[in-house]
Amino acid sequence: VAAAAPPQQSRRHHHQLDICESCYRPERFSVRGNGDGRKESVVVVMGATGTGKSKLSIELSTLFAGEVVNADKIQVYRGLDTTTNKMPAAERHGVAHHLLGDLDPAAGELSPSVFREMAARAIAEIAGRGRVPVVAGGSNSFIYAAMAGRYDPGWSPFEAGWRRRMRRREAETLRHRCCFLWVDVDAATLAEQLDRRVDEMLAAGMVEELARYFEEEEAAEAGETRHPGLSKAIGVAEFREYFRGERRGATAAYEAAVAAIKANTRRLAQEQVRKIERLEEMGWPLRRVDATAAVAARLAGSAAEVEAAWERDVAGPGAAAVEQFLDE
Ligand code: ATP
Repeated sequence: VAAAAPPQQSRRHHHQLDICESCYRPERFSVRGNGDGRKESVVVVMGATGTGKSKLSIELSTLFAGEVVNADKIQVYRGLDTTTNKMPAAERHGVAHHLLGDLDPAAGELSPSVFREMAARAIAEIAGRGRVPVVAGGSNSFIYAAMAGRYDPGWSPFEAGWRRRMRRREAETLRHRCCFLWVDVDAATLAEQLDRRVDEMLAAGMVEELARYFEEEEAAEAGETRHPGLSKAIGVAEFREYFRGERRGATAAYEAAVAAIKANTRRLAQEQVRKIERLEEMGWPLRRVDATAAVAARLAGSAAEVEAAWERDVAGPGAAAVEQFLDE
């Protein structure tokens, strides 16, 4: 990542960032502190799976003395590192990560309310050390819970009827002072990239990892779920039949599992985009960066072009936006 652009350029980047002007109404968002007037400035990196959120969050953390707070509801657990596509330690370039692989999957599913409190603690701790919290992850229900000024577990902006019910709520506030970056990729390009990524994950040992997962599950007491927190990870349900069903080990069962993983990963990405668009519709000031050219270059196998497009379209504009945000 090159040095962040000077301030005059950031203004120009504003347009390149493709902010929807009608949505970008920061005056609608009174920033609420934590009771003592403290307002932490937080960078939030959103986007569908496979768009490069994790890479961007690490690059921004490197540039701006940040630390990453994971907001992926499956990656919070220890285990299934390949299947859940956790960023390997070697690729974190020394950037500290919080809530990534820390939780025992036996502890059960994490609710958005609990995540809200865990994230608030991590954010306060990072900001307290004078560093920049960079929240990154694909679980938009977690991001919503962590960033909403007022959080009501009984109300979700992602459900039908949200608009009518939202009108009855007091004006939305944000809990922190936020710079939201949305890494977006054209749907067809992303779908192709996701299929490719599933093949890469299989080559990286996903099936062997799932074999161990199912062995542990089998060794557990009858009726006891060994890893409830991880049981919803894409790959687990899809490979159950291959490992434990009547068609155990059959090539057709393997192929069916892979096809189901690809379909479910594509569906997850579509759902994630739908949720991000909903947050934008609600008025959250999201700044969109377009990683389509970078992903397309990767699919075409041109490494130099990947770097150039990523820098030009994603890392450069993202860094300019964060620089401006931190300077304000
Ligand atoms: P929901 O409340 O519908 O689960 P969400 O916004 O809270 O949505 P998402 O992150 O969109 O959560 O995850 C939805 C589902 O997608 C998960 O339950 C899981 O099946 C799958 N999933 C999400 N992230 C991963 C991951 N890193 N690895 C494997 N599967 C994942």
